[in-house]
Amino acid sequence: MTDQPKPPAAGGDAALAQLLAEIRACTRCAAVLPLGPRPVLRGRAEARLLIISQAPGRRAHLSGLSFDDQSGERLRGWLGLGREIFYDESRVAVMPVGFCYPGSDARGGDRPPRPECAPLWHQRLRARLPAIELCLLVGRHAIGYYLPQTRAQPLTRSLARWRDFLPGFFVLPHPSWHVGRWLADNRWFERDVIPELRARVAAIVSPANPRSAPCPRR
Ligand code: SF4
Repeated sequence: MTDQPKPPAAGGDAALAQLLAEIRACTRCAAVLPLGPRPVLRGRAEARLLIISQAPGRRAHLSGLSFDDQSGERLRGWLGLGREIFYDESRVAVMPVGFCYPGSDARGGDRPPRPECAPLWHQRLRARLPAIELCLLVGRHAIGYYLPQTRAQPLTRSLARWRDFLPGFFVLPHPSWHVGRWLADNRWFERDVIPELRARVAAIVSPANPRSAPCPRR
């Protein structure tokens, strides 16, 4: 689901490719996107792990490749995955809450994902990703969208309740540099959560392991 040209897809990937062509032609937010629409997402129909992140940053907008930065290195470290598997679209799909770079705010941080995007596309995309068994909800926006019951509470409380959302959803903080202080204040995350996360991810990305129940949709 990268923006690079691909050979014709077959089977489930053909239907996915058709939907992706529709998404790439989307101009719903064109008037408010500072660099214009460029959806950044990836995955193939047989992917079993889905990473639902927030929105591409400027760098991902320019390259078309998500998590190709320090955030991605941290996320891959949490997951116990190298780049080869992480960017293998037949194993790992990446679908932000907002597909296009939303621009930066007055303080230089990224704006929130465009609210139009997930309601417009996510259900249709999930229907074309039928093999997904585990959805990682990465950051406040993904967690709030898929688990609306958590919106009224502090993010740390939602993250501390991570077991409540299994087996379909695994909630994670966003792995940007901001998370360093949070990790220092919440040692339980690396002590308790990361080993469980790595075990579940390793089981899912291994072709040798049989499929388990599908991840729930919103
Ligand atoms: S953010 Fe989503 S809805 Fe908006 S233009 Fe991009 S693909 Fe379309």
